[in-house]
Amino acid sequence: MNVKTQILKRFGFSQYRPLQEEAIDALQAGQDVLLAAPTGGGKSLVYQVAGLMRSGMAVIVSPLLSLMSQQVVALEKKGIRAKFLNSTLNINEQEDLAWSLHRQHIDLLYLSPEKLMQPSVMRFLQSIDIALFAIDEAHCIAQWGGYFRPEYSQLGQLRDLFPNVPTIALTGTVDRDTIQTIQQTLQLVSPLVLRSSFDRSNIQLNIAQKRKAKQQILYFLHHEVAGETGIIYCRSKKKTEEIATWIRELGLPCLHYHAGMTEEQKQSNHKTFSSQHGVIMVATTAYGMGIDISHIRFVVHLDLPSSPEAYFQEVGRAGRDGEPAKALLLYGLQDMLQAQQLLHAQGQHTENTQVVIGKKNPQQLLNSLFQILEGRGCRRQNLLSHFDEVIDACGNCDRCLANSTEQNMTIASQKLLSLIYHTKGVQPFSLLIQVLLGKKTKSVVAANAQALSLFSKGKELTESQWKAVVRHLIAFQFISVQSQYGFTVHINEKARSILRGEHQVIITTERFYPTLNEDCLASEQVDWHKVLAWKHRCLQVKISETQLRLICL
Ligand code: ADP
Ligand code: MG
Ligand code: ZN
Repeated sequence: MNVKTQILKRFGFSQYRPLQEEAIDALQAGQDVLLAAPTGGGKSLVYQVAGLMRSGMAVIVSPLLSLMSQQVVALEKKGIRAKFLNSTLNINEQEDLAWSLHRQHIDLLYLSPEKLMQPSVMRFLQSIDIALFAIDEAHCIAQWGGYFRPEYSQLGQLRDLFPNVPTIALTGTVDRDTIQTIQQTLQLVSPLVLRSSFDRSNIQLNIAQKRKAKQQILYFLHHEVAGETGIIYCRSKKKTEEIATWIRELGLPCLHYHAGMTEEQKQSNHKTFSSQHGVIMVATTAYGMGIDISHIRFVVHLDLPSSPEAYFQEVGRAGRDGEPAKALLLYGLQDMLQAQQLLHAQGQHTENTQVVIGKKNPQQLLNSLFQILEGRGCRRQNLLSHFDEVIDACGNCDRCLANSTEQNMTIASQKLLSLIYHTKGVQPFSLLIQVLLGKKTKSVVAANAQALSLFSKGKELTESQWKAVVRHLIAFQFISVQSQYGFTVHINEKARSILRGEHQVIITTERFYPTLNEDCLASEQVDWHKVLAWKHRCLQVKISETQLRLICL
């Protein structure tokens, strides 16, 4: 057995994954490496094994304290000499660490970029033998490099100070732009660039229109993933708590997680969630980076993620064991408008601090997300094409699973565009739709909109079909919505092609994701056994018999 295989055994694995071995060999030969593989791809093992194989100590730069300690604890359990250096260490721990460092009793040292760039730390590292530098979650360079965490953009200095130490950058979000930014910032020297497929085919992608979101969630929880472990993502702390409370009241084991909680609460909830099966975690995106829980079976989005990258990462937390998992994203026109508004608001406050992924700015990323949501055909094809990856239709998304049909909405789009034009873009979409449907609502009357020539000229479509048309026109930038100075819709140059009939607007017919009414649970087929198993698995969450009956009756 060679050394590489022996070391793998120490980690409890029998075989390397293809890219792992290639990356380790390159590092072993002293070459820089850039490894882009999806979350769960097994990137950490690469620098851990290579770090143990090469002489000296491996230095691992990691963005989050929780992530460091989690990895170090796991490594120590395997008898591997790993430590982390950060501000949470008390005096005794610091002295212990200093002692071990000086005697070179550490093989893997984890620290933050801020710690690494401290002159004293840097001086010390220059005095000892370094095996390699690993920059984990290197997309943070592109994300935070400029402002929030300037030390990220200074990591390139390592190249000058340690010319003979190989560096590996690892990233889970990669379009080609991001890879380039990382490569340039770190000044990697002719690195071996390894990019594995980003497809996580075991995760079933479902994207659906939001209507009575809670009842849709209820349906999902009962009919799709009963008894399973999963995360429900919400945008705000308040909503996170509300949804968690509601789910608990239904009698299901549920915790929450957001940045407003104490460290203690967060740790405790994370611990329960990661160690037990069948718990639901309602969280903001604060819960995420680096969590390595293999048994997460579903991820729900109750609010829109900020970019395709964010969506991909969040969904990717499910099914890390390779077994089937489900993702459900619920959204509607309102969510798109809100996301747009939020971006405008952020843009105003943080002119120079925009989070930029690769070369795309937040607006472009949001547009890409909208196009993935509104695009025709296979969900996974649309998503992966954003990451420059071409695949066949996946067979495991809502579109592939139910032969979807399409509708030509060119004439409808023309009507809507004319109406926007005639109302000078200052009327909300809800009013425009009421006009098209010929509804004399209060707001229609107040705006004297029943006098418009297009009044009641759009009765061939339903309200939700009209909303779909609006969403399509926004997503593909035929119109844009500005909300800085009140609500205004702008018709873009591109829309002329629709008005002239040169561009056909084809929209996939939406199927409604089912709902399950709390009161109607009685008439629904609920799998008793699954729910009971669910209860038993979660001993820490107490479910009363009454609550159980409420969900099982
Ligand atoms: P990433 O950093 O790419 O998101 P991790 O390094 O956290 O992924 O690894 C994800 C999971 O894959 C971990 O549970 C890890 O133990 C497992 N893993 C890594 N390499 C192998 C391997 N060669 N064989 C089996 N499991 C592996
Ligand atoms: Mg990782
Ligand atoms: Zn598909």
